[in-house]
Amino acid sequence: MSKVIYMDNAGSTKVRREVIDEMMPQLSEEYANPSSVYSLARKSMGAINDAREKVAKAINAQPREIFFTSSGTEANNWALQCIANTNSNKGKHIITSSIEHPAVLNTCKHLENIGFEITRLPVSPEGLVSPDDLRKALRPDTILVSDMFVNNEIRTEHPIAELGRIAREKGTYFHTDAIQAVGHIPVDVEALNVDLLSLSGHKFHAPKGVGALYIRKGVKICSLLYGGGHERGLRASTHNAPGIVALGKAIELATEDMGAEMARLAALRDRLVDGILSRIEHTYLNGCRTNSVPGIANISFEFIEGESLLLLLEHKGIYCSSGSACSSGSLDPSPVLMAMGLTHSKAHGSLRMSLGYFSTEDDVDTVIEELVPIVKRLREMSPTFPRD
Ligand SMILES: *Cc1c(COP(=O)(O)O)cnc(C)c1O
Repeated sequence: MSKVIYMDNAGSTKVRREVIDEMMPQLSEEYANPSSVYSLARKSMGAINDAREKVAKAINAQPREIFFTSSGTEANNWALQCIANTNSNKGKHIITSSIEHPAVLNTCKHLENIGFEITRLPVSPEGLVSPDDLRKALRPDTILVSDMFVNNEIRTEHPIAELGRIAREKGTYFHTDAIQAVGHIPVDVEALNVDLLSLSGHKFHAPKGVGALYIRKGVKICSLLYGGGHERGLRASTHNAPGIVALGKAIELATEDMGAEMARLAALRDRLVDGILSRIEHTYLNGCRTNSVPGIANISFEFIEGESLLLLLEHKGIYCSSGSACSSGSLDPSPVLMAMGLTHSKAHGSLRMSLGYFSTEDDVDTVIEELVPIVKRLREMSPTFPRD
């Protein structure tokens, strides 16, 4: 089989070798239940707590404020459902954005169904929530604001520190889905003024099925999962020791490499975007370059269906996404791009290319080379493409 070019790192990532090496002993040697009392188990619990320290250090939190979960989705569900549950005596109003990941979006829908009131703030053409809109939406009965740090389709960075400060002034809890930010850009829970923050391992080269929720000390929250007394009695179920150890190693590596990786990925992204925009007409960059995490390009190819583009790219061994993996399979254009005010036709022809630790300049150049004839061919077949 010919070489695969993986440009879907916002969907998931390849696990780094150092991370696999770190987690292997948890599978083959320290396999006991970490909550048992004998030394083999204590060793495993020790490794879990080392990972907890690494996660805490990476986001400037205390280790006791880090709670491991089975995924980013669980962390988001926990934050939203349980803040709502625990604080409903104070009010039943929650504020979120209109471009959240389904893990927040659909949790809010559920909360709405059981009697909470949800305000969804609009976003600018760059995909950002405005602090003024948040100020206006906050009410005495608002118990939680949840706004994502970095969007998974366009990766624009939201002004979380400012939004967090506004919520704090009103005494309202602030949660951020930082799943596309952690491991990619500096994340500091103190500077961001957040009370709860979700992260997920497989978005930064750890395995799937492990995440964490940061819960600031003093925040009133209940458990999502009841059972044993794991995670200080707040999150039951036997620890996923291999996953947690891997998460710790991956976040440590990402933090060490961050400055250099951010510069490298920004340069690769610029090469990709400039190459496509200069060589293919009727193409547009969605979101903005300055306010975004390096390494992702979301580009609209007018007069083309994103899905057909994906298919033809796949024939060349190139894997990207049209919008997010979580909403693909549906024929509707991306709700995120629509909320940003894109026309139906531009939103339909969008392609998300996300780079990662393993991406190279060669990958970028090959993708540009392959895209040129593919787009030409699709447009020749397109009934909407203007011909002279
Ligand atoms: C991937 C992702 C999630 C879901 O995390 P899982 O660990 O896959 O459950 C939630 N929010 C954002 C922004 C994501 O990119």
